[in-house]
Amino acid sequence: MQHSIIIIGAGAAGLMAARILSAAGHTVTVLEANDRPGGRIHTIQPAGFTMPIEEGAEFMHGKLPLTMQLLKEAGVQYQAVAGKMIQVKNGRWSDQEEFVEGWDELMDRMADLKEDMTLADFLQQYFRDDKYAALRKSAQRFAEGFDVADQQDVSVFSIREEWMNEQEEQYRIPGGYNQLITYLQNACKANGCVIHTSSVVKTVRWEPDKVQVGTANGQTFTAQKLIVTVPLGVLQAPAAHSTAVVFEPAIDTQPFQQIGFGAVVKVVLQFSAPFWLEYRKDIGFLLSEEAIPTWWTQLPDSVPVLTGWAGGPQAARFKDTDEQTIIEQALQSLANIFSMQVEQLKGLLTASHAVKWQTNAYSLGAYSYSKLHTGTARQMLNEPVNDTIYFAGEALYNGEAGGTVEAALSSGSSVCKLLSS
Ligand SMILES: Cc1cc2nc3c(=O)[nH]c(=O)nc-3n(C[C@H](O)[C@H](O)[C@H](O)COP(=O)(O)OP(=O)(O)OC[C@H]3O[C@@H](n4cnc5c(N)ncnc54)[C@H](O)[C@@H]3O)c2cc1C
Repeated sequence: MQHSIIIIGAGAAGLMAARILSAAGHTVTVLEANDRPGGRIHTIQPAGFTMPIEEGAEFMHGKLPLTMQLLKEAGVQYQAVAGKMIQVKNGRWSDQEEFVEGWDELMDRMADLKEDMTLADFLQQYFRDDKYAALRKSAQRFAEGFDVADQQDVSVFSIREEWMNEQEEQYRIPGGYNQLITYLQNACKANGCVIHTSSVVKTVRWEPDKVQVGTANGQTFTAQKLIVTVPLGVLQAPAAHSTAVVFEPAIDTQPFQQIGFGAVVKVVLQFSAPFWLEYRKDIGFLLSEEAIPTWWTQLPDSVPVLTGWAGGPQAARFKDTDEQTIIEQALQSLANIFSMQVEQLKGLLTASHAVKWQTNAYSLGAYSYSKLHTGTARQMLNEPVNDTIYFAGEALYNGEAGGTVEAALSSGSSVCKLLSS
């Protein structure tokens, strides 16, 4: 049976669903708030940069099936990330194998855990002793840095699964992640799907098999079915928030609050030369205790670009900090890591860019993580409301690739099966 379908959000999930449904003969309209599709995939080249940079997604964490399939179809090249993970603590540089004493014990204890609990409770219960202080800090920083999670509410079961199944191989797309979005967008258009950008959805009036969607610029769209793929931050926002989508009649928004959604600050700095090669030639990632704690190079490419990252509560601290101040703090962090004068680094700087995802109006955060009741919440949200309103997006995905582009593609694909069943 053919339907008319509105999809809110033209990120990876929305475009994936739009492509599948429009190919199956449904009439699909996509409404996107930004003036571009892609959402949290956003390749840009700001003034001064000699290469494209990623504001959002950058890596593929292993050869994930849907992402790989799309890249293959689109003929987009990717390459393995090179270099080592190095920790810098109190001026001492150490390789990954040697830097977290007690990590195996922590993983064993996690593996034995029978009942889920928050990371903070787990560390308090099993690793309270003073001798574990550094281990506790490392676990907290891992959860914050990689999962953008707060140790106070992140589920140990979820991070256990992820940390144990961590993919060694990581890849990136030298020409930019946006190529994947352009490919999906063109496929949608070729199927007759219409994508309206700069269309901020404000209201959804609905009854079974009928939705009326109102946008901020006064347009109204109607359809039989609705797929909502806006980021979790937007779904969690109170009705009074300028980006919130208001449902009439109201739907149960409680499950959205049961999923974690972390903050990220990302800083990209380009220098006149890769000065870090004088320290080591094999720097892939640097983990430090600075204000901007995590850094990576572009190895195997030797371009003089460093990317800085703060996630979870570390990033949330920058909520009211302007871009210039973030860049200053990033330079100070690097100066401390490399024992250089900040003025020396400024002299080498040729371009800089900082982005705060928690204040991005159409995202209100970076990506999701699991809290104690997230599994049940996801189950509820993956059930359509009266066979009329469906939810999709990375936060709705239940699997090993949580918080990724793969998660978004997978959720976008799953919702189509649900709609066709
Ligand atoms: C800084 C950062 C780094 C990341 N790094 C990686 C990585 O290395 N590898 C990886 O795999 N993943 C990474 N991710 C995660 C990945 O980018 C996301 O999981 C994925 O892109 C989400 O896709 P989505 O379609 O679910 O949501 P989105 O891409 O956010 O799409 C939702 C769309 O809804 C739109 N929208 C919001 N509100 C409204 C409204 N009211 N009306 C209409 N439209 C609206 C938004 O503008 C957006 O375009 C990263 C994310 C961030 C933020």
